[in-house]
Amino acid sequence: MPPVRQWIRSPFDPEARYGRKRDIHWVGYKVHLTETCDEEKPHLITQVETRPAIEQDNEATAEIQEELVKNQLAPSQHLVDAGYVSAKLILDSQEKHAIDLIGPVHVDPSWQSRTPGAFDASQFQVDWQAQLATCPQGQQSNGWYPQKDSQGEPVVRITFDPKTCLACPVRSQCSKAKNTGRTLVLRAEGRHQALQVARERQQTDDFKSLYRKRSGIEGTLSQGIRSSDLRRTRYVGQAKTHLQNVAIAVATNIKRLIDWLNEIPLASTRHSRFTLLLLPA
Ligand code: SF4
Repeated sequence: MPPVRQWIRSPFDPEARYGRKRDIHWVGYKVHLTETCDEEKPHLITQVETRPAIEQDNEATAEIQEELVKNQLAPSQHLVDAGYVSAKLILDSQEKHAIDLIGPVHVDPSWQSRTPGAFDASQFQVDWQAQLATCPQGQQSNGWYPQKDSQGEPVVRITFDPKTCLACPVRSQCSKAKNTGRTLVLRAEGRHQALQVARERQQTDDFKSLYRKRSGIEGTLSQGIRSSDLRRTRYVGQAKTHLQNVAIAVATNIKRLIDWLNEIPLASTRHSRFTLLLLPA
């Protein structure tokens, strides 16, 4: 069998692929839209990316940004859904295009990060040049091993001396290993720091208020679906489907410009009746 990405799913369109998002399944493509979100200005679609449905959202991020840069439409802050963010993408966006990629990053999955008082990775000082980590008790690591994770991404495994850890008075807050010292697995230099900064930032009120602007794109998708049947491709093949998506984006932009010139305000987010009961009058 060929890799699943190459499986032909439709006898009518050999480029169409199987896609799934939560409980929605489909065969075809996926469209990614980027729009402006300046206050008091019309929200215009600046980039349309059409991909096979099987691709993950984060596979599109780099190309979306490259096209925005090429067309001199790059934002200084790029607000995206969690699916479009990774430590590598945050770093690449900053280094290649000076774009601040903003979206929720995954939280540290370790038990230490979920236990109050326990020592998660953020509490260790890491000297990347000297290849040494210092734990909250002031002990230094005794091993530094660059490796690749299951996705092929560079990580470093850092170990601490079992003798020191087994005698440590705060061991229960740090490690559950019975015979070995604490082990840390961190993303490579740069990516680790980018992830730590993003994790800290997403806890702040500033992040929450800035990130609220991203929700406008859900309205854009909804508008495309309701007014132009964005969920259905009328054509065979990715190139023609992309052209259809671009045409829908152009139509949406024209409508939004006309609404803005006529001073028709943006629709506010709709709430369920139950939510409305909880909102202040
Ligand atoms: S268990 Fe080891 S790594 Fe953890 S705080 Fe104690 S000495 Fe440091």
